[in-house]
Amino acid sequence: MKVLVINSGSSSIKYQLIDMADESVMVSGLVERIGEEMGSLTSKTFPGTDKEVKTVLEQPIPTHGVGLEMSIDLICKGDNAVCTMNEIDVVGHRVVAGGEKFNVPVVITEDMWPDLTETERLAPLHNPANLGGARDATKLFPGVPQVLVFDTAFHQTMPPHAYMYALPYEYYEQDHVRRYGAHGTSHKYVAKECARLTGKPAEEMNLITIHMGNGASMSAVKNGLCVDTSMGLTPLEGLVMGTRSGDIDPAIHNYLAVNRGMDIAAIDNVLNKESGLKGLCGMNDMRDIHAAIEEGNERARLALEVQTYRTRKYIGSYMAVLGRVDAIVFTAGIGENDDIVRLKSLEGLEPFGMKIDPEINAVRSKQARKISAADSTVDIWVIPTNEELAIAREAKALVS
Ligand code: ADP
Repeated sequence: MKVLVINSGSSSIKYQLIDMADESVMVSGLVERIGEEMGSLTSKTFPGTDKEVKTVLEQPIPTHGVGLEMSIDLICKGDNAVCTMNEIDVVGHRVVAGGEKFNVPVVITEDMWPDLTETERLAPLHNPANLGGARDATKLFPGVPQVLVFDTAFHQTMPPHAYMYALPYEYYEQDHVRRYGAHGTSHKYVAKECARLTGKPAEEMNLITIHMGNGASMSAVKNGLCVDTSMGLTPLEGLVMGTRSGDIDPAIHNYLAVNRGMDIAAIDNVLNKESGLKGLCGMNDMRDIHAAIEEGNERARLALEVQTYRTRKYIGSYMAVLGRVDAIVFTAGIGENDDIVRLKSLEGLEPFGMKIDPEINAVRSKQARKISAADSTVDIWVIPTNEELAIAREAKALVS
């Protein structure tokens, strides 16, 4: 079975064609700057192998539909084609927000569209593009199942006391204001991987999973199910991120409006795009921040301190949520690569049985690895996430 995985963003499309026989990536591609004067399409067949062929096209790409068609042409026609269109059995789509209705992956049927369209207001920056990709693919692949995999689905097992805000109840009933979380596909994937690597059933494991990339979130996973997560109605809540503030006093909105004359759109923009690490030190890439700290940049040091302190606080609160923690899992760009952030995030938690082996932690690797010390009672893991493979597996499972 071959699954085409599509992640359609506001001005880009990422895709992978995965051969489920051995879960290998046949093609991986990126369409960028859709709708701009000049767009680009980069496609790699058999990436990372000695058969890798890279193709780059630079031309205007007016719509997502055109971008997708160009990508399919490269996959299925011409010199570097890897299969025919008929050989693509399923298309899997990443969708950021599923709301309460879409708590599991679904194969799209025509009657679902009104409910799907309804989810757009929960993620106005992402869902219209995600669902637009699904509409385009439906036209290009008539009769081929289109599976939607929702980033919020894994978090739908949260109990009401974890997902409700202490706001007037009618905001929940009428406007669906509650916590939904995000990065769920990644949290679920690394939680399952952790159970597999440990050799225990996922249903018997209590985990704290930490997805830390440009966006960052943490989940408390009890007996294999998500019971709490740090992102909320939107991906702004929780940890300190590259450009997002994470948790702040909600009264800051009013304070900024009064003191700086900012309107609600300007404040929202700052909290999402000009805050977090970038707000504190002007840089949002952790590699730049470490380099600046080396040069004595105090703001960069502060940004690292604020970010890792917040992470540690969340770990502490999820220990209280779970009672027993079997393992902590770090994943995504920072989680997988940054030994200093991992070390600082767990600093001082040794009395709770969480102890990193500094030597193993410092070794760079693309493999899943246990980084806890031999006498740590809680296992500490680094497990690379693979959201595309996770979507492909969900899609395969649903149509098989
Ligand atoms: P996204 O949320 O955009 O998917 P990623 O998971 O790819 O993000 O993470 C990107 C971030 O990971 C970068 O902004 C950078 O801060 C961090 N990162 C990537 N590589 C390294 C590294 N070697 N060391 C420290 N941080 C890294």
